[in-house]
Amino acid sequence: MESETSIPDWNQPYAIADKIWWVGAPLQDDSFQCHTYLIENGTESILIDPGSMINYAAMIRKVETILPLSHIRWVICQHQDPDITASLPALDQLITRPDAMVLTHWRAIALLKHYNIRLPFQCIEKMTWRLDAGGRAIQFVFTPYLHFPGAFCTFDIESGVLFSSDLFGGFTEEWHLFAQDESYFEAMRPFHEHYMPSQTILFDGLLKLSPLPIRMIAPQHGSIIPEHLVRFMIDRLKELDCGLFSLAQSSTDVQRLSRLNLLLRKFFKDLVFVREFRSVLETLAQLAGQLLPLDGLDIHWQLDQDEFLLWSQDNHYQRRQEMPQADILTLFQQPEQEGDWAVRGVYLCFLVEERKPALVLHLRDSESGGVKGLAVFRLSKAIVISQEEGQILNRMGEALSVAAMREIMHYQLEGERQRYYERSIRDPLTNLYTRFYLREAAGRLFEIQDRDSHTQLAFAAFDLDFFKSVNDTYGHGAGDDVLRALGQILLSETRTMDIPVRLGGEEFLLLMVGSNIHDSMDVAERIRLRVENLVLPGVLSGRKFTISAGVSLRHPKESLEMVMEKADVALYQAKHGGRNRVVVASED
Ligand code: GH3
Ligand code: MG
Ligand code: MG
Repeated sequence: MESETSIPDWNQPYAIADKIWWVGAPLQDDSFQCHTYLIENGTESILIDPGSMINYAAMIRKVETILPLSHIRWVICQHQDPDITASLPALDQLITRPDAMVLTHWRAIALLKHYNIRLPFQCIEKMTWRLDAGGRAIQFVFTPYLHFPGAFCTFDIESGVLFSSDLFGGFTEEWHLFAQDESYFEAMRPFHEHYMPSQTILFDGLLKLSPLPIRMIAPQHGSIIPEHLVRFMIDRLKELDCGLFSLAQSSTDVQRLSRLNLLLRKFFKDLVFVREFRSVLETLAQLAGQLLPLDGLDIHWQLDQDEFLLWSQDNHYQRRQEMPQADILTLFQQPEQEGDWAVRGVYLCFLVEERKPALVLHLRDSESGGVKGLAVFRLSKAIVISQEEGQILNRMGEALSVAAMREIMHYQLEGERQRYYERSIRDPLTNLYTRFYLREAAGRLFEIQDRDSHTQLAFAAFDLDFFKSVNDTYGHGAGDDVLRALGQILLSETRTMDIPVRLGGEEFLLLMVGSNIHDSMDVAERIRLRVENLVLPGVLSGRKFTISAGVSLRHPKESLEMVMEKADVALYQAKHGGRNRVVVASED
């Protein structure tokens, strides 16, 4: 086999396996080497992909050193391109035995018959994809691909050599007959990405090849794949995504497009697997950094006329509400007119305020199709982007829009949940906290106090005196006014960290954080006094109100029920002691 020390004489045929010959001709300065192979099989010998007129003379000379041309009975054309078949008319003059024939797919026959050759065609489908060449079994595998729906591969069962035609072909600047190592995949990658219109077609073909006991792959272009690399190349090719063929319009820099395509695929993968928008953006910035002179990435999203969200690289994509600066805002207002367009939805502009060029991607609402967001890639210098790059970026923009929409939906759900939560923790009449919230907050505070007994927690239970008579005399509406006023007093007499609660009816509770018994007595007393001095307008104007209170301290490990019970007992004592007073719970 070819090695550093013994470079084969390319003027001679080269045995790639027992009785299997490479009879191609290396072309100078050609990254697209075309190979012809011969299966030496007595008078049933097989020539695979005879090639073009460029290789023809060399090919014939090489074959003739192995066997007389009259031994060639079968000429296999794995597809219809000139680099494979253009020599057919010349070959037709040389192969004169009457039973010789060209084997190919009917789709190729439809075209190759226009060479008007004498050799008959046989359709491999009609041979049920098999050839019995004088006892040697050859299997054909249908692998439509690239530019040709009638393409197939040829598998020689005896040797395990797969003649794969364009599949496993590669562009190589420094040509080796045999792939040296796994790096040959990088030669195959652009070849397939560029020519294959879709991943599905490639994948389906590879699936058909997978069960074959392949010991060597002999493609028409590039390098032969030896046994130890066969699995690796098949598996890697299975993962390869394609589609550059349909993207590339002006750029012929296949390697670069291939790199871009790879970035795009990575990004798509991330979108599917990563749920956190922040991580998606981190990946995006990282990938874009390989493509652009990137200084920073910002995503702006417009929720409302003047409500915008911003995810900025500057603060690790923590979502925040922020109005974009003026020149970004203009982009929102005239999204279709600004800047220098590459393709629809991708353009370059200059951010005046930042004195920086930027690449902007439109993010669209999937329902309305309207531009709702902008991905702004701040650049360190001006760039030019090609049509193809623009299209790749545009696809990124489409994918990013989906991720952004998903994030916005989360944001809105979160907001809704927050509003529901607010409603469940606030009493609508007094705007004080509810029992529900008391339990939640007390749970947290108790935990702190249980760990650190220096933390002081005090409770004051309040109950309006003779409140029933207010309702009875002035009506329920007037009673509500009193409750509202009491809510105001509780809110204004307490610190923000305290928790004033309406337990229900005209019963209230105040949880005071960091208060000892004297502080809490003072607070309760102040509230009692304010109620006593409360003057309400309207029907209630002449009416005096009073309130009673019971104060208790929480000791570590006491439950909420226990402290509330203590405060209640004290409140009961206040009622019985004549109302309009504050009583401290006794500790026994
Ligand atoms: P005491 O001094 O013993 O506390 O006398 P009270 O009349 O305040 O006692 P009671 O607990 O018997 O009366 C509570 C009254 O509070 C009964 C009910 O009419 C009234 N009440 C409860 N919830 C509301 C409310 O949401 N709005 C109004 N207006 N009144 C309420
Ligand atoms: Mg009551
Ligand atoms: Mg009462």
